[in-house]
Amino acid sequence: MNGPVKNDRAAWLQGPPADCSAVPTERKRPWRLVLLGAPGVGKGTQAELLTERLDACHLSTGDVFRAAGKRKDCDQSPAMKAALEYMRRGELVPDSTVWDMVRERSHCILNCGGFILDGFPRTLGQAESLRELMGSEKLSLSAVVNYELPVDEIVRRLSGRRTCEKCKSVFHATERPPKVEAVCDHCAGRLFQREDDRPESVTVRLDAYERSTAPLIQFYKDLGLLLPIAAKGSPEEIFARTIDELDQLATGPVVSAGD
Ligand SMILES: [Zn+2]
Repeated sequence: MNGPVKNDRAAWLQGPPADCSAVPTERKRPWRLVLLGAPGVGKGTQAELLTERLDACHLSTGDVFRAAGKRKDCDQSPAMKAALEYMRRGELVPDSTVWDMVRERSHCILNCGGFILDGFPRTLGQAESLRELMGSEKLSLSAVVNYELPVDEIVRRLSGRRTCEKCKSVFHATERPPKVEAVCDHCAGRLFQREDDRPESVTVRLDAYERSTAPLIQFYKDLGLLLPIAAKGSPEEIFARTIDELDQLATGPVVSAGD
């Protein structure tokens, strides 16, 4: 099948003045989605599946940071340099810095092809800034998809993860076990449990996530944009559930089941 050239997201990953090789074509009703979900609910996988299906740009702030870390110092904007400096110190990047970084990529949000925002907004302040930016162009979000999973299930998922100390591949003790116990399938490196994936650390991370996102979730609920999706089952099941719910949004376009 000769699909359209996939958007390379150069403008998002590198920031101005980079241009994407394929600018999304104008659509009648592009999807403009925000994805929310605690660590471990599988949000990243859903973002990829949705990006493909909805033909929108996957705007992940995590990807921006990863891309920036690999670039030369002189290629980075002041906002990006500041953000990386906080990260190097192991500190949380402040709201205003994250917003500066997103704002210098605002045409990715305001373009005609739609987007799937992943990792942003994280706080109420960022959500208000995003609403203001989009409002200036008379745009609004189609929905805020919130992936929900009980805490004990998240702990079970994350604490089963094992990471390769050499190539960083991730396995799961029960869901995606390596062929040989504790040995990486790809490079034969030793698998270990990251500090972050220990049950105690997972609980702490989840508490922090809940505290910071509760006001954000309320904000979108009040705006009638919140779309809660149960994140149980396989990635395919979660994806099917998401598409079902998006289909039922009166204001959104119909998503074809297969093409
Ligand atoms: Zn490996």
